[in-house]
Amino acid sequence: MKTVIVGAGLSGLTLAERILSSGNGEEVTVLEREDAPGGLARSFNIDGFHFDIGPHRFHTFNKDVDSYLLEILADCFISISRKSSVYMAGKYRNWPLTLTSVLNLPFPLLWKSFLDLFYKPDIPAVESFADFIRSRYGDNLYNFFFSGYTRKFTGIDAENLHVDWAQAGVNRAVIDKHVKSDSLFSLAKGLLLPKPVATQFYYPSKGGIQTFCDFQCGRIEETGGSIRYSTAVAGITSNNGVVSTVELKSGETIPADRVFWTAPITILYPETNLSFLNTLTANVALSSEIPSNDYQWCYFGQEDLIFSRLTVPRNFREDCVPSGRDSVIAEITCNSDSEFWKNPESIRDRLINDLESVGAIKRDDVIFIDWQRIPETYPVYTLDYKEKLSSVNVPRNLFLTGRSGSFWYNNMDHSIAQALSIVQGSDFKQDFWNER
Ligand SMILES: Cc1cc2nc3c(=O)[nH]c(=O)nc-3n(C[C@H](O)[C@H](O)[C@H](O)COP(=O)(O)OP(=O)(O)OC[C@H]3O[C@@H](n4cnc5c(N)ncnc54)[C@H](O)[C@@H]3O)c2cc1C
Repeated sequence: MKTVIVGAGLSGLTLAERILSSGNGEEVTVLEREDAPGGLARSFNIDGFHFDIGPHRFHTFNKDVDSYLLEILADCFISISRKSSVYMAGKYRNWPLTLTSVLNLPFPLLWKSFLDLFYKPDIPAVESFADFIRSRYGDNLYNFFFSGYTRKFTGIDAENLHVDWAQAGVNRAVIDKHVKSDSLFSLAKGLLLPKPVATQFYYPSKGGIQTFCDFQCGRIEETGGSIRYSTAVAGITSNNGVVSTVELKSGETIPADRVFWTAPITILYPETNLSFLNTLTANVALSSEIPSNDYQWCYFGQEDLIFSRLTVPRNFREDCVPSGRDSVIAEITCNSDSEFWKNPESIRDRLINDLESVGAIKRDDVIFIDWQRIPETYPVYTLDYKEKLSSVNVPRNLFLTGRSGSFWYNNMDHSIAQALSIVQGSDFKQDFWNER
């Protein structure tokens, strides 16, 4: 059996590592466009500063994924308590919100949000992201934070985004699972009668988040698998609903009995007109520590700030920066035709001004800014995205999986879980996006 896996991110590497470790004698080849493994969980080490692509932490409620994480990391991990924040009304506030930080919100907003507890907008069918947020949290919090943040982050108005964006993004990333937050009322109750939230997560004890993928690569190569870097795939050839070869951009053709595809689905099915957002990251190295940067990451909803999130690597692990130094990672989501993407240096001054205005840096401390253009970071859930996905006709020996292959807003643990379930032969269906 010749298995070809497209993409050496968490999904592709977990598939390869598990298939090879089962010892069935399969020939496994992983094809990767970049010159290093990791995909969105890649890291960059520049002069002793470690930068991931934004904040990356391992957290899971799935026991199989948890065991797998610990098996691969062995004793090379640390366990950290989460400390995230949100910048609202000119101040850093703990996220999820605490009673103290809520009481410190500007009084008019606090009062109006309180009134929203008793008044719900009339939304007959919750179809868009805006419907979802307004029906749960009321118009005031929606207008104050979510509407602007969403427009800035996706470039699309919340009214034109599918409600799944909320399921994937808000439930998981913005609102903590431990805090019951399915309505403004339960949010208020949680604030008045708070239960301690101590979300622990794993992080490698050396290097950046990519260390996990590096360990997977070591195991793949030890068990006879092959990983080809700087090898971009252009497509597949199939006959009668069966894939026979994978085509490289170089013109080379690779025979395959089955293909696991974790690269963007749009490469295979451009006619769907599905789209992804890109992320430009600015990795900013600083000559001295900024004491106020005591969060691991912070969300910024203000439309006049260029970034939507900042990450502070030293709060993941102290030696992510050389002693006495500091760094921040600013994330700017954009499309390929944006000016930022084409010429990041053109926004250098604006970035420095914005970072200084929120107290995240002092401009004289900047040693360097390293720009990374990361394509296809977020699937865009327009209102018709499900119809577009269901128009895809998938050959029987082709498996679309991972964040970009399945067009689902996976975290690392979800990409690993998908791969484990494929290898175990359980639950996996090629049209699994219908069953979310
Ligand atoms: C800013 C940011 C922060 C995040 N934070 C967290 C977090 O804290 N915790 C968490 O669990 N998850 C987090 N995630 C999500 C996590 O990074 C992803 O879910 C996970 O890395 C996806 O892995 P994957 O293998 O499914 O996809 P990818 O990592 O996208 O892998 C796909 C691979 O395919 C390759 N590829 C693409 N095109 C081609 C081609 N034509 N030919 C060959 N190869 C190709 C890519 O280079 C890539 O290596 C974050 C994501 C982002 C963007």
